[in-house]
Amino acid sequence: MKILILSTPVGTLSSGIGGGVELTIYNLIQEMQRRNHLVKVVAPKGSYLQNADIVGIEGNLHIPAQTQTRDIPTVMPQNSVLGNMWEYARQVQSDYDVLVNFAFDWLPFYLTPFFQSSIAHFISMGSLSDSLDHGMTQTAQKYPLNFGVYTKSQANTFPFANVCECLGSGIDLSLYQFRESPDKKLAWLGRIAPEKALEDAVKASEITQIPLLIFGKIQDEQYWHSIVTQHHQAPIEYKGFLSTIDLQRELGYCQALLMTPRWVEAFGNVAIEALACGVPVISYARGGPAEIIDDCKTGFLVTPDSIEGLVTAINRLPEINRHDCRRSAEQEYSLTTWGDRFELWLKRICSE
Ligand code: UDP
Repeated sequence: MKILILSTPVGTLSSGIGGGVELTIYNLIQEMQRRNHLVKVVAPKGSYLQNADIVGIEGNLHIPAQTQTRDIPTVMPQNSVLGNMWEYARQVQSDYDVLVNFAFDWLPFYLTPFFQSSIAHFISMGSLSDSLDHGMTQTAQKYPLNFGVYTKSQANTFPFANVCECLGSGIDLSLYQFRESPDKKLAWLGRIAPEKALEDAVKASEITQIPLLIFGKIQDEQYWHSIVTQHHQAPIEYKGFLSTIDLQRELGYCQALLMTPRWVEAFGNVAIEALACGVPVISYARGGPAEIIDDCKTGFLVTPDSIEGLVTAINRLPEINRHDCRRSAEQEYSLTTWGDRFELWLKRICSE
């Protein structure tokens, strides 16, 4: 197949602002190229991925949907980068078998019937906006095969859940080294933004006095500042936004990854990255992580928003065998297994 991937308009690739989508796009390119498909990526200018042929497009970035309330109408910035990316796609569409949309934004859904080429929509988040839900639902009624999601929990947040193809996620396991013996420290990783509720992990670290290493892009500076000032007794250390290679090296030495999503996490790529290093995951039983973690075997699922639950789970960590964590990543989240599902989905869309 000739595949044109259209990235998210909220940030450049490798900036960290796109969150898990950036890793998902990187992995998709890797796996589709390995299967001899031709892949090109359209993304905001300044984007970089080691394995990608990227067409950088000028224009203003979009505001991430999760920073908005559900009821606001769809807005487009002046000289929208997304508009420009899809104008490029319109011009070159006949060179490709399928276009893959990674934008969680109204425009590509609206444009679908106006394109001659097939468009596969990969949806990276749960429902966040009434106007976007409405637009996606209309498109899903006309193109029921073209909607891919990470998980069932994510699909269930949308009115068109029944047509969503659950594709999961996968990582290149050879990049993640298994570590049997951790140091006495915990990890938290992801975009530093309110929907991820980092403050809950910080509170758990404050209570247990086990150091918490924090990795990721500070997306909301004010939010980060308020956490640091309110919890100056907590033994936390901010490590910055690291490359996968550096991240897995640091992560492997941690006793557990804490995941504290306040929202329905669509998947949580960080969960499978931790498991691949042999690191158990302690998460609120909500969204993707609840489908990924085998409770009491590869981590613990905790009552959502319960700090006490996090602390109890931290105390139970010696019950977990880190080999089980790595094994679960190998059995369920390899790039090949995920690639099989993704490739089949794209082929089905192409032959419609
Ligand atoms: N990440 C990274 N370096 C860091 C911290 C995080 O590359 O220092 C990446 C991580 O590998 C993951 C992404 O950030 O792919 C976070 O994605 P996730 O699916 O967990 O959440 P999202 O941000 O999409 O809501």
